[in-house]
Amino acid sequence: MQKIVGAKVVFAKEKNLKVSVSEIIKKVNNKTKIVFLANPNNPTGTYLTKFELINLRKRLRKNILLVVDDAYAEYMQNRDYKSGLDLFKNKHNVFILRTFSKIYGLSSLRIGWGYGSKKIIDALNVIKPPFNVNEVAQKAAIESLKDKKFISRSVKHNFIYASKLKDFLSNYDISSNKVSANFLLLDFNKCKLQAKGFL
Ligand SMILES: *Cc1c(COP(=O)(O)O)cnc(C)c1O
Repeated sequence: MQKIVGAKVVFAKEKNLKVSVSEIIKKVNNKTKIVFLANPNNPTGTYLTKFELINLRKRLRKNILLVVDDAYAEYMQNRDYKSGLDLFKNKHNVFILRTFSKIYGLSSLRIGWGYGSKKIIDALNVIKPPFNVNEVAQKAAIESLKDKKFISRSVKHNFIYASKLKDFLSNYDISSNKVSANFLLLDFNKCKLQAKGFL
C-alpha cells in the first residue's frame, strides 16, 4: 500500500462477515486519524445499519475522520440502511466516497467523487496528481446522472434478479448474504453438488 504520509493501516475484525463497530472501537487509540469502511462492503455484501453507523460515529473521537465508501448506495432497498451521504451530509468529520463505476456503469472511465468539508478537500488537492479525471469521463458522468429512468430500472432489475438468484441457489444449499448490493457472496460449504451438476 502506498503511504503518502507514512500512516500505519490497522484492520478490525469482522463478525460473521460483517463490519463490527465494537471491533473497530477496540482498535482505535490516540494515534487513530481515520476510520475507513465500505458500506455495504465488498465482497461480503453485508452492511452496517443506519443506527450502527450513527453509533460508530458517536463512539469515535470527534477529531477522527470517518470515511464511508458509499459505492453501492444506489442499489440499497433495505429499510434499515441509510447511505453515508444521507446520514452525515453536514458533518465536518465524515468524508463520503461515491463512484460512477457501479450503478452508472462507467467503470472503465475511472470517475468518482468525494463529499466532505472544504478543509479536507483542500488537503486532498495538495496530494492530487495534476492529471486525474479526464473531460470525457466528466461529460459521460454528467449525462449518466440525467438518465434517472435507466438508474431506477437498473435498481429494480438488480433487486429482482438478485432475489431470484439467491432463492435458486438456496435450493442447492448454497447460502449467501441477504440481498444488498449488486453481488452475492456465496457459501458452498453445505452444497453437495459440483459444477458439472449444474449442466
Ligand atoms: C467498485 C468499488 C469502488 C469504486 O471503485 P472505482 O475506482 O471508482 O472504480 C469503491 N469502493 C468499493 C467498495 C467498490 O467495490
